[in-house]
Amino acid sequence: MRDGEQAAGGALTLEEKIEVGRQLQKLGVTVIEAGFPSTSPGDFEAVQFMSREFRDVEIAALSGFKEEQLSRTWEALQDAETPLLHTVISTSDIHIDQQLHMTRAELVELTDHTVRFARNLAPHVEFSTMDATRSDRDFVVEVLATAIRAGATIVNIPDTVGYSMPDEFGELVSYCMDNVPGIDDVVVSVHCHDDLGHAAANSLTGVMRGVTQVECTVNGVGERAGNASLEEIVMALRTRQDFYEADTTINAPELLRTSRMVSAHMGMVVPPNKAVVGGNAFAHSSGLHQDGMLKERTTYEIMRPEDVGQGGSKIVLGKTSGRHAVRNHLKEMGAEIEDDRVFEDIFQSFKRIADRKKEITDRDIEAILEDRAHRAFHQTYELDLLQVTCGTDGIPTATVRLKTDDGKMLEDAALGDGPVHAVYQAINRIVNVPNVLTEFTVSSVTEGIDALGGVTIKIESRGRAFTGHGSDTDIIVASAQAYMNALNRLLDVLGGGGPAEAETVSV
Ligand SMILES: [Zn+2]
Repeated sequence: MRDGEQAAGGALTLEEKIEVGRQLQKLGVTVIEAGFPSTSPGDFEAVQFMSREFRDVEIAALSGFKEEQLSRTWEALQDAETPLLHTVISTSDIHIDQQLHMTRAELVELTDHTVRFARNLAPHVEFSTMDATRSDRDFVVEVLATAIRAGATIVNIPDTVGYSMPDEFGELVSYCMDNVPGIDDVVVSVHCHDDLGHAAANSLTGVMRGVTQVECTVNGVGERAGNASLEEIVMALRTRQDFYEADTTINAPELLRTSRMVSAHMGMVVPPNKAVVGGNAFAHSSGLHQDGMLKERTTYEIMRPEDVGQGGSKIVLGKTSGRHAVRNHLKEMGAEIEDDRVFEDIFQSFKRIADRKKEITDRDIEAILEDRAHRAFHQTYELDLLQVTCGTDGIPTATVRLKTDDGKMLEDAALGDGPVHAVYQAINRIVNVPNVLTEFTVSSVTEGIDALGGVTIKIESRGRAFTGHGSDTDIIVASAQAYMNALNRLLDVLGGGGPAEAETVSV
């Protein structure tokens, strides 16, 4: 979670972090690195919350090597059932000279002091040699040996800048395994970045060389080109147990759900051709392949879609399904809704979609739940009415009516270059918060002509990015919802806004 959130524009709210954290628990991860508490109050709050509330999972937090950073990190972490204090010092000459301005001897001294200080606070301490793959091997060995002597319980060998090739990385891991005194008594971990596309391969090579902890992220999100992709590592180990002779605790059928949640909350769309969780990962389009699949699925399929949660969309409900059926079905999907008002809101969304779409699948219900999860923060405005005129001739025109949190109805209309532009202009006239739209992605949630369309957008205001998501059978409506979603999030965080010259309609 910490590295994932370092992805450009990927910051999550506290509620989103908690929701993702709970899903990571369902997924069966053994450690959640929940944040970098000394760098931001938001991270402190998230780490503290998960430390206090989450059980049966280790909670880790990253810290710089300064005493006040370590103490502050420990403060956030100390209530966890199994807290893990993770600290990091660079070992490459380029980092030592240019960033730390130290000698190697001073750095060894600093490692010893940092780990001893951390161990006085925490029972479990992880030590990382940042930029290990561009460091002198013998120096990495010396620093790791120092960290272990000082009490580190986990040592991590990171490819911080995604520079290493798999064979080379494997040799570095083996070299450390063979030469660091005491390494057999600690957990050895790897943490690989994907700048050259080798993060998962490097991590798996680490496993081949005896590593038992792999740090990775859902969908491979993270700093720059991202981190090693959790789902790829898990499924490689599981599909090729004959080769790796290793496995994880991961509950793989939760992979797709986790991937979708992370994608939606971060506003980072998963490419259709992404391994394991991509929309096309199990689509067979060539005639020869389809023919083979019909005769025997293993002819072209090395994993079963249901093993990673790509269970296919079975039709589950329809227009005539009532409250009881919907509630029961939600329960079957593992979403028990206690609050009647929340349920009614979900049911109304269901009715709206069922009116326009004959068959409702699991995926449609998930989309409704995702949309709701997106509205977990304060709703200053809600879309009440939308009408658009567009076509080959004429000027696209939109009329919108928004309902405010104090029950007022506000209406306005605007022209635009296209229908979505017109809608956004009309909303802007009412909400009146300066922002720039930086990303706009449309995707199909389900198949068929009456499919639900999903729109994910990103807007920026005062140097911060906010994502928004909406889904509807009408793509213009989904676009409007995505924009309202992003604006409400922005208003919740930054405040401000308000009607300019919009006409007020009383209710
Ligand atoms: Zn990283």
